Order: sequence, then structure tokens, then C-alpha cells
Amino acid sequence: MAEPTVLIRQDREKMFEKRHPWVFSGAVRSMEGSPADGDIVTLRGESGAFLGRGYWNHHSQINVHVLTWDEGQNIDDEFWRARLQRSISGRAVENAQHQSGAPNAYRLVNAENDGVPGLVVDRYGDWLVIQALTFGIDRRKQLIAKLLMELLAPAGIYERSDVDVRAKEGLSPNVGLLAGRKPPPMIEIDENGRRFLVDVYNGHKTGFYLDQRENRALLGNWLRFDPEAGNRTVLNCFCYTGGFTVYALDGMVKRVISIDSSAEAIALARRNVALNGFAAAEADFVVGDVFNVLREYRTANQRFDVIVLDPPKFAQNQRQVESACRGYKDINWLAFQLLKPGGMLMTFSCSGLVDADLFQKVVFGALVDARREAQIVARLGAGADHPVSLTFPEGAYLKGLLCRVW
Ligand code: SAH
Repeated sequence: MAEPTVLIRQDREKMFEKRHPWVFSGAVRSMEGSPADGDIVTLRGESGAFLGRGYWNHHSQINVHVLTWDEGQNIDDEFWRARLQRSISGRAVENAQHQSGAPNAYRLVNAENDGVPGLVVDRYGDWLVIQALTFGIDRRKQLIAKLLMELLAPAGIYERSDVDVRAKEGLSPNVGLLAGRKPPPMIEIDENGRRFLVDVYNGHKTGFYLDQRENRALLGNWLRFDPEAGNRTVLNCFCYTGGFTVYALDGMVKRVISIDSSAEAIALARRNVALNGFAAAEADFVVGDVFNVLREYRTANQRFDVIVLDPPKFAQNQRQVESACRGYKDINWLAFQLLKPGGMLMTFSCSGLVDADLFQKVVFGALVDARREAQIVARLGAGADHPVSLTFPEGAYLKGLLCRVW
């Protein structure tokens, strides 16, 4: 039986040469056949030329997520197995920077960037945690779980599809066991030789901010090389479960202060500090709003040697970009004022809609208003286990700057 065919408007046909995996409803001229949501459709130009093949969803503004641009490629079970295998095999290269042998926590499948739109698979020790972000993936998650069990034989696969984007696909949140055994309440992972407890049931995203792995390692490494580390005070803003905190303590600094608005996150951060053998006295935790706490430090004339700013996503959509930039500017402006001369700022944005250029402009604005000077020492992004497809610039959502501030 022929696959339903989606005909693309002539003026949008050219877009397919760029191989972006999203086809918006505005590009669709008409439909031959009546696919159910999640069904595979063939995309053709008005002349009948083959453009691609992908899964359909009438709920979403993204009507089709393209899976292949090759007419000879059918989307069958073998296709999904090959795509998963490709992603899994790639991780050998992408984890090469890991500092303590093969890591046991990383992103295995990075959705569009790995040719599997809508699917995130993270590994935590013996367990996999998946997110089905689209209708097409949600419908196939049993198949995907079966293939992952065959390919990797994990102890179990848990689903954490409790994300807002699913609403745009006409899906409600869903969590639960998909295959194998239930994960324990806390999974202990090794990240560059540091140990962390991950709560895959209640933690953010799939449990841990895996994307910051290499930036956390950078902080730890540079402190280890810093002859003055023993005199340094580090301020870790938006600390979550203490990722950057543990690496900073490992750098043998004098003191680390960590701030987060979530008391649960801080409780787990304290456990992670203890798990790595540090005394509670070495690390101070503050449950509070970073915007307010930084102002209190300024009033109290407190100064720091290193500040990490890793806020949550401030811009959820285009309308929020301006206010998001005001938020980024405010915390960076405060951080610049709180740094000692020669101090270091590690500042991030994970808003996909704020690109690296715009983020740099915002940080520049904050610097000028704070009447300080700074050098960019490194441009930062997500780790190599979060590869970015060249045809999917949206994949580069995490960007950061490491600055020396005068
Ligand atoms: N750097 C962390 C990840 C940070 S995620 C790591 O490496 O694991 C962002 C964190 O910011 C979340 O833990 C969230 O609870 C916290 N948060 C959000 N808004 C906040 C605010 N206004 N003040 C303090 N913390 C906030």
C-alpha cells in the first residue's frame, strides 16, 4: 500500500535542500491519502519529485518530522535499529574526553541531532531514561524500548516524558517503566571520576544536567592548575544537585557557596558533596533566589574569585526573548560587580532562542554597565555526547563564556 503523500508548496520546495528536519504546516499544499498521526508519509514537490519521508502529526505546527531524504530508505523496524545503533556507536568518539575511563552517564540519543527527531535517550549506570517528545516517537516507544534492550541490554528503561513540548504535539505527560527492572530511587553515576546520585524519578530533565559534563570538568581542571586555588572562594549559582560544586571542591579551593531555589535539589547536592568525601563545612548552601541573593552579597560587600551562572531556560518562546535577555543581563551585571579583579566568570544560557551572538552581546552590556573589563578565555557549549547536527542549528541550545574579569 502506497504511503500517504504530502505535497509541498512550490515556493517552499527549495528549503528541502537544507535538510532541516522540520516541515511546518505553512509548507504543506495538500495531502493524498489520510494518514493517522504518527504514520509515515512521503513528501513530494508539486512536480512530483521526491523530497523526503517522515512521520506525520496534524496536531503540531510541525506537520512532519523528516527521517530520511533518500527515496530508497524505507522507515521500518530495521531503519529504527540502524539509527539507534549509529548513535550508540558514535558515543565511543564523543566520550573520548572523559577523564576516568568509559563514562557510565551520558546522552545516548540526542533527538534531531542524531537523526531520530523527538527521541532523547540518556544512560545512567545500568539504566536508560527516555523522553518521547513527539507523537511519532510516542507511538513507537515500545519498539524503541525493545530495540534498545536488544542493542544494549540495560537493567531497565524508564520513561520521563513529562515535558511541556508534548502539549504542542497533542500529547499529555507520561512517566513509567517501559522495559526491564525499575531503577532504584537513586542511581550512582561516575562523571570524570566524581560521583553523583541521580534521581531519575523526580530530577529535572531525565535526572541530571548531563550537557554540562565537560564544562564542570573544565572548572575542576583549571582550579587544580591554579597555585592560588587554596585561597579561592567559588560562588555556584543555580547549583541544582551540586555538579559544579563537587568539581570546585575537588579543586581544593577555600570555600564553595552554592545557591538554588529548590530545597530538594540542595538536599541532594549536600549528599553528593559527602559522597565525594568532602566535609559539610567546606561547602555552604543557600536556598534562595539568585537574583535576590546576589544583591544581598553586593550590599554586604562580599566578593568572589569565581562565579558560575547556569540559570534555567529563561526564553520558552520568541515573545519571551526580550525579558529573558533582561534576566541574563541582570545576573551577569551582578556577577561582574561581585568578582574580584582577575576573577573568573563562567556564564551560560540554555535558551535555544538566544543564540551565541546575542548572548555575548547581553554579557557585554552587563559588563559595560558594571564598569568592568573582561576577556573571553573560552567559548563553551554542551559536551560531545550532545552532538549538534549541522542541518539543525536549534541543537546548539547551550552556550557559555568563560571570562577573566578585571
Ligand atoms: N548547574 C547545574 C544545573 C542548573 S539547572 C548542574 O550542573 O547540574 C538550573 C537550576 O536553577 C535548577 O536547579 C533550578 O532549581 C534553579 N533555579 C531556577 N530559578 C532559580 C532562581 N531564580 N534562583 C535560584 N535557583 C533557581
